[in-house]
Amino acid sequence: MRDVIDLHTHSAVSDGTDTPTELVATAAAAGVTVLALTDHDTTAGWDEAAAALRGLGSAGSASGAPGLRLVRGAEFSTVSPDGHGGTVTAHLLGYLFDPADPDIVAEQERVRGSRRERVRAMGERMAAGGLPIDGDALLARLPADSPAGRPHIGQALVDAGVVGSVPQAFEELLRKDGPYYVEKYNTPIAAAIAMIAAAGGVAVFAHPFARRRGPCVDAAVIRDLAATGLHGVEVDHPDHDADDRAALRALAAEEGLLVTGSSDYHGTNKTTPIAAETTATPVLDALVRRATGAEVLAG
Ligand code: AMP
Ligand code: FE
Ligand code: FE
Ligand code: ZN
Repeated sequence: MRDVIDLHTHSAVSDGTDTPTELVATAAAAGVTVLALTDHDTTAGWDEAAAALRGLGSAGSASGAPGLRLVRGAEFSTVSPDGHGGTVTAHLLGYLFDPADPDIVAEQERVRGSRRERVRAMGERMAAGGLPIDGDALLARLPADSPAGRPHIGQALVDAGVVGSVPQAFEELLRKDGPYYVEKYNTPIAAAIAMIAAAGGVAVFAHPFARRRGPCVDAAVIRDLAATGLHGVEVDHPDHDADDRAALRALAAEEGLLVTGSSDYHGTNKTTPIAAETTATPVLDALVRRATGAEVLAG
């Protein structure tokens, strides 16, 4: 059976639109055989996804359908040196770490708290600019410890009829270089890599050259991080063009980094379908061999 491995997806626990249960069903229906749930700065969706997988498992064995495996992960919000004296925000995928690790629990709580403060602050700026956004009302509709983000503001702008879609909200109003942007607290990337490793997990730099989102790291930064414990880089990602993929692939080969591919599926908050990009089976096997913090679950 051919593997279809998607190592980066979001549920409604962060800024996707499928519940973890719906995400597992979406993956199974699309023929995905290995799904990583990687919500931003939280592991709160893991239990529901695992329960949904168990439900599928019994249905699967009755019908003889192939099982789905679940790799539990998270996308950590970090700040990285940019390679020429400044810093940039960067996303780091952590896989199969111990979700009860006290350092990770505390750090993710800190980032989620800062995310909510920042939704309030961006909401105030937008309201002052005449846009019908109330950050407090928006947050009140989310769980108390939600990793709220710009897509939630984008959805509120859609609901208010200001824009037609969340991607359009990003293009016109939520951009980093736009008038309403406020930065949040982000974990220094080297500390995040160390934290994930200490909790038995594997760290992969997410979409390092996603240039249309804003400034990115230089290749030299990835080399430095490889020397200090980074395990892999996400190369095949919808926000990477062919040249950047080629450059990243060459760099990964030189540095001995795992090369992953994934959709970064967010349900209807983005246009990319699940499994639009995938990871090779030997890479998954290597990743799982390096992890000691959490089991891969089979459906
Ligand atoms: P935040 O983490 O709150 O800064 O928001 C960043 C998130 O917004 C990313 O994780 C993506 O899910 C989403 N995002 C970034 N750019 C776009 C875009 N152009 N269209 C739709 N969603 C986007
Ligand atoms: Fe996101
Ligand atoms: Fe990301
Ligand atoms: Zn993501």
